[in-house]
Amino acid sequence: MKDKIILHVDANSFYASVETSFHPELKKQPVAVSGNPKKRNGIILAKNELAKKQGVLTGEAIWESKQKCPDLICLPPNMELYEEFSEEMHHIFEKYTHKIEAMGLDECWLDVTETAHLFGGAENIATSIRKEIREKLNITVSVGISFSKILAKLGSDLKKPDAQTVISRENYKQIVYPLPIESIIGIGSRMTRNLNKMNVFTLGDLLEIPAYILDSKFSIVFKDIRKKLLGFSTGEIASIYEKEPPKSVGNGTTTIFDIFSRDEIEATVLFLADKISARLRKQKLYASSLSISIRDCKLNVVKTCRALPISTNTTSDFVKFAMKIIDEFWGFGEKIRSIRLSARNLTTTDNVQCSIFQNIEDKKDGLNTSIDILRKKYGKAIILPATMLCSDFISK
Ligand SMILES: [Mg+2]
Repeated sequence: MKDKIILHVDANSFYASVETSFHPELKKQPVAVSGNPKKRNGIILAKNELAKKQGVLTGEAIWESKQKCPDLICLPPNMELYEEFSEEMHHIFEKYTHKIEAMGLDECWLDVTETAHLFGGAENIATSIRKEIREKLNITVSVGISFSKILAKLGSDLKKPDAQTVISRENYKQIVYPLPIESIIGIGSRMTRNLNKMNVFTLGDLLEIPAYILDSKFSIVFKDIRKKLLGFSTGEIASIYEKEPPKSVGNGTTTIFDIFSRDEIEATVLFLADKISARLRKQKLYASSLSISIRDCKLNVVKTCRALPISTNTTSDFVKFAMKIIDEFWGFGEKIRSIRLSARNLTTTDNVQCSIFQNIEDKKDGLNTSIDILRKKYGKAIILPATMLCSDFISK
């Protein structure tokens, strides 16, 4: 059987790179994306190369990083911006194949088995993708090219930033065998410790160890990894056209301080509904039920899911219905720490229910479309509901 040709594209220091691409004045500074120390989650989430060189580690507290790197610039995460960059990368990938599988916002597998010859081979595709992402988005990616998903991913880790690595049938023993076992996806720290006890340190050791030496539970995992590493199980990548539409579109937030009043709750709901409705409109989807989850300051969670009287994707409808539901099921007895809304029972525009108030619906559609156009052109913050501007408890 013909070998598959799989690319794994991994954006280098993604969050921090997007920030420096978006704020070029920070390009020569150590930058980290972190939770805000004044809020409740003050740790480093991502850092750029300059911060990395000064010892800044992902997952450590901001104060620890600042001790090592006093000039570190900490920015709050801007997930919408990262999603936009991720989407732009996907548009570039789609020029080369429709078989694309994302892992998070910054990593993707592409199956180019059927299309590589159209572009002069997989290495040319990797070079073009790197160039296009560098020039259009001003960030860099590393690409692994191989005959299985696991090896393509391994390849993208070997050389970075802005590099590509081919792991072929011919060179894979030379490249893969000397690597430590924990270099591949699927081998965690516990398994590494157990294997090390058996004198298995490298992937070569792992591939050479006779299966009967391993206990039965371990043996299943081992056989699976071995099959993948040797390319007997390459992993399928589905076409983007075959993917199911999402079952729900949700968004949640932990407020900066606990909230209590109905006005504060409504402002938070508005903030979430605004994001959810924009995402639904982007995918041309309408929701006909809404789930709401509220976590109070004692960390108790109450949830409900209700059908909506109409299918909708407008912010004002979600706020109106969500507040009606909250009035009915929330006792307003405890302070609230976080709220999550999820639009469910999603349908496409084709089977949306017709409202008897169609005229009003048309006007709402027009307003929402105008908001979407403005935000696409000038950024998300160009237009915000007025109540959100004075809601200092929402982490915008
Ligand atoms: Mg990455």
